[in-house]
Amino acid sequence: MTLRVRLTTAFLLMVLGPVLLGAIFVGASVAKVGQDRASERLDLAANSLRTSVGALCGQLLSVAEAVAAAADEHRMAVGGTFVAKGLASGIHIEQGGGGQTTEAAPPPPWADCAGPDSAEESGAVTGFEAFAASVTSPDGGLMVSAAITVDAALVQRLSGASGAEVTLLAGAGLARPAERDIVGLRPVALNEPAPALHSTLDDSGAVAALAAALADGTVGKTANGDLVRRIGPVPGQPLPLAVSLSAQPPRGTYALLIFVVFTTALAAVGVAWWLARTATSPLAGLAAAADRVAAGELQTRVPARGNDEIARLANAFNHMTRELDIYVTALTASRDQLRGHLGVLGDTLSSTHDLDRILQVILQTARHATGASGGIVLLAESTGELVGKCAEGLGIDVSQVRVAIGQGLTGSVAATGVPRLGRVDVDGPRLDPGEPTCRTYVVVPFSAPSLADSNGVGPALPAARGVLALYDRLGRSSACDDFDEPDLVTLRTFAGQAAVAVDNVRVHEEAQRLSVTDSLTGLFNYRSLRETVRREAERAGRFGRKLAVLALDLDHFKEINDRYGHAAGDSVLAEFAQRIKYEIREVDFAFRQGGEEFVVLLPETDEVGGMAVAERLCCALRATPITLVEGIAVTVTVSIGVAVLPDHGQSGAALLRAADEALYAAKTAGRDTFRVAGDVSYPAGNMVGGASSSPHAPRQAQGR
Ligand code: GH3
Ligand code: MG
Ligand code: MG
Repeated sequence: MTLRVRLTTAFLLMVLGPVLLGAIFVGASVAKVGQDRASERLDLAANSLRTSVGALCGQLLSVAEAVAAAADEHRMAVGGTFVAKGLASGIHIEQGGGGQTTEAAPPPPWADCAGPDSAEESGAVTGFEAFAASVTSPDGGLMVSAAITVDAALVQRLSGASGAEVTLLAGAGLARPAERDIVGLRPVALNEPAPALHSTLDDSGAVAALAAALADGTVGKTANGDLVRRIGPVPGQPLPLAVSLSAQPPRGTYALLIFVVFTTALAAVGVAWWLARTATSPLAGLAAAADRVAAGELQTRVPARGNDEIARLANAFNHMTRELDIYVTALTASRDQLRGHLGVLGDTLSSTHDLDRILQVILQTARHATGASGGIVLLAESTGELVGKCAEGLGIDVSQVRVAIGQGLTGSVAATGVPRLGRVDVDGPRLDPGEPTCRTYVVVPFSAPSLADSNGVGPALPAARGVLALYDRLGRSSACDDFDEPDLVTLRTFAGQAAVAVDNVRVHEEAQRLSVTDSLTGLFNYRSLRETVRREAERAGRFGRKLAVLALDLDHFKEINDRYGHAAGDSVLAEFAQRIKYEIREVDFAFRQGGEEFVVLLPETDEVGGMAVAERLCCALRATPITLVEGIAVTVTVSIGVAVLPDHGQSGAALLRAADEALYAAKTAGRDTFRVAGDVSYPAGNMVGGASSSPHAPRQAQGR
């Protein structure tokens, strides 16, 4: 059932119930008032009727007196005049033993106006058709009677005077008229008692039957609601009369009442429907608008007319959708912005191994995702410090930021590996002088494992590789610039990204280092040699500089392997590499070409310099025996070929070939010595031992 139907029904019940009750009450009241009024009118009519009969008798008495007062010879003429004027129906004069009656007088006997003296006397005069008033002279010689006929005209006259229906009942000595004159239900035979002789009613049967049973002055009610009152015959009123009135209220009253109720009901239905419609159609509009909003049409508005509750509801709805629209627009913009930042982050992570750039993009994205006004990334260093790598929105020189691990806010997060968020003045630790100042903060550690951890190599590191810190979220007021748990979760995601990025970069750097390094000796490998020699030769050639190349080969190395084992040979190779590194400059390069063959590249070095280094290397190896295991040390020697750009070759490959040839010459010359390319006759370079004194096999050091 819809709201409209419910409202209509409720309104109808509220309006029609009282209307119907009122109508019933009015109907009952009308009936009661009608009855009361009928009763009063009946009393009035009865009084009027008695008065009228009394007045008639008085009139007849006056006529009789006037006739009696006339001279004897004029009496009949005077009586005839009164009859002619209608003041009496007939005059009877008795004088001197004889009697005279006017013409057309009703036939005697005449009932006396005074009527019977008592009830017992009723019917003393029987068979009368008229009643009369008489005067008698004091001597009794003259008696004059004036009579009036009891007929339908008299009954009509009495009815007119009383204002009610009047019925002349049969009996009480009244003569019965001919059958045709009887007013009743049906023609009555002369030997039957007639209910009524004359009546102003069309149908007097019920009234006459009821009145016949009533005593004088009492009131009865017929079956169809007519009130009947019996009057006479009593002394002074010789006629048996019934006066009656209809107690039924006029039919028009009820019809009017029904019409009013019906019209009110119709009007109520119309008003109820209109009210329900005006109340529910704005609600239906609101419901439809809410459906459109739910479908995503956030520009939907509903009309708000007037100042009633529905208008207020409409205004509230419009306000809500407007705010929702603004909020969704802002959210969409923020999402698009974040999407853009995440795109940049993804591109950066996949396209570069530039750690500073990666950290900067991670910091930017984290800042935009949380709405922080500033932030910084610090990485842990083996010195036990956190060092600033990049910062945003802080207005500081990030390279100056250094915080001891365990100190301040960022230092404590790095030491414990536990993220923190809050307000500095409420729950924050004392800030380290080296770290940025702030009101609110969220700080998370990077905790991804690194290569150093997995290998168990490297110094003891703190709980975190570094920290990502954001400061002072941009709120609508300084009271709501706190970071919350979702911010912390977001930041941990970015910290995870940062940790992976740091490790990726370190793995990449390690891989790069390994790709150009010989794992046994830590020197550059053969692959790196070719590239470096080519590059350095090109540079030296372009700038007209010298470049010396030394080719080194351990002497009789196979025998060390054979005698002490391959592992001992390896340790000799590693130790030799360390001694090479020790003997050369920072700008020089040392390579392990393969096996027990090495190459040293000396930029900005001429032949004399190259020979000096070759001499130093021979000496460094020869002078100090190499300890293989506890108690066993061997003296190892090396042969070296020297070539110089541009004297012995213009390219890297040519230089290497020239150096190899010189090495071969050194071997041929007896080992533990060096030779310069293109000058195989150059005397042995080792001034200390010389090729002749150099042993052909490694010697075990005495006393070691
Ligand atoms: P010389 O150069 O004086 O003529 O004699 P040599 O014994 O050093 O010459 P050769 O080139 O015949 O022997 C080189 C040996 O080096 C052969 C091989 O067993 C050994 N060798 C090569 N690479 C490695 C290595 O990585 N580790 C060890 N332990 N030995 C290696
Ligand atoms: Mg060799
Ligand atoms: Mg050798």
